[in-house]
This record gives sequence, C-alpha cells and structure tokens, in this order.
Amino acid sequence: MTQEELFLKKLCEINPLLGKTHLLIVSKTRSLEDIKTYYKLGHRDFGENRVSELQEKSLALKEECPEIRWHMIGHLQSNKINLLLKTPQLYAIHSVHDPELVLKLIKSQEKLNHEVGIFLQFNTSQEKEKSGFESYKELLSCGKKLAQEKKLKLFGLMTMGTLRTDDFETEAQRCFQELNSLKQKLEADLQIPLQTSMGMSQDYKMALKEHSDWIRLGTMMFS
Ligand SMILES: *Cc1c(COP(=O)(O)O)cnc(C)c1O
Repeated sequence: MTQEELFLKKLCEINPLLGKTHLLIVSKTRSLEDIKTYYKLGHRDFGENRVSELQEKSLALKEECPEIRWHMIGHLQSNKINLLLKTPQLYAIHSVHDPELVLKLIKSQEKLNHEVGIFLQFNTSQEKEKSGFESYKELLSCGKKLAQEKKLKLFGLMTMGTLRTDDFETEAQRCFQELNSLKQKLEADLQIPLQTSMGMSQDYKMALKEHSDWIRLGTMMFS
C-alpha cells in the first residue's frame, strides 16, 4: 500500500464516524511529506505541540498548502508566545493553560494580522504533570476578558483524558462529561456559543459519544 492509499483508508474509516465533530490531525514528529499527502486528500486542520516545529512546518508549507489551518495543541511557554503568534496560517491555540498566559496573549496580540481561536485547557484528570485551569472561577474571569478581544476569539475549552489508568474509558468519559458541563455553564454565563476539544487516539470514541467539537488524532492516523 502506498502512503497515499494508507492515509485515504484512514480518512475513509474515520470520516463516517465524525458527524458534526471536526478532525484535527496531529502531525507532530511527522514529515512535511506526510502533511502534504493528507492535504492533497483534502484535509486542512493540523496540530503541532512544539512552537518551533510548528513555525518551521508552517513556513515550509505556506505556498504549497495555502488553505492549511494550524493548531497549537502542546504546552505553551510564555517566552514562545511572540513566535507562535507570527506563525503563518495559525488558526487556533488549544492549550492556553492558565490566567497569566491569557494576559500575556492579550498583551502580545498586536503581532497578529488575523483572528486566532483560543481554547482554555482544563485539567479534568487532575494528574499532577498535566497543566490546565482547575477552577471554574478562573475560567470565567479569563473567558470574560477574552470575550472583549477582537483578534483573539474565545473558541471554547480543551481537555485530555487520564493517561495513567487501568480503565481509561470510564476515566475519559468522566473527564469529557466534566468538560461538557463546564462548557455549558460558561456559555450560559458569557452568552456566547463555545466548542470542546477532547479525544485522542486512545479515547476518541468516548469523545464522539460526548459530542466533542474537535478530536485530535495523531498515532492512529499514521499507523
Ligand atoms: C500528541 C497529542 C495528541 C494526539 O495523540 P495520539 O495519541 O497520537 O492520537 C492529542 N492532543 C495532544 C495535546 C497531544 O499532545
């Protein structure tokens, strides 16, 4: 099977399951060729977890893939914000994990010449090594600040299911349901529609059951 045939097979398997859910293909550590192959098959949304890799890939593919939409999904250090905001075709940042980062993004946004979506990351699994907001109060106060911005647009909330667990399905369901109820609460308080970004290769089926707006798939789209 050629690489193109394999990728087409992957898309044909996943697309019928999606409904209204968007697929974000996580291309971290994958080559430019891999990304171009999916692009040629009509896919547009790609996610990276390191700013430097995202920057390099977006510059390299700017001409060949003019309709690509880049998503930053990995831990964001505040000293990388300026570089991130200069990324061509940056569409959304899924991993805005604390109030300080929100303030820094708001301060740096003159660098943007187009709108960028923001997902606030919530730590539903409460695993120590995971980052993310931990209280609704902080989500609400950051949501209010972002709702007033023009270039940064509050898209919604992101989370990751528990990684270290014997029963990841039950755990993922718990995490995703918690994110859904936080989203509903925030929508009611801010009076704006919001989206969710949840589900990876190991738990995307649970995310689909919970009507995630975005699933982020890496491993299973490349093997
Ligand atoms: C790597 C990564 C993914 C994709 O994970 P897979 O298990 O390869 O599907 C999704 N979200 C985040 C935040 C990631 O870092």
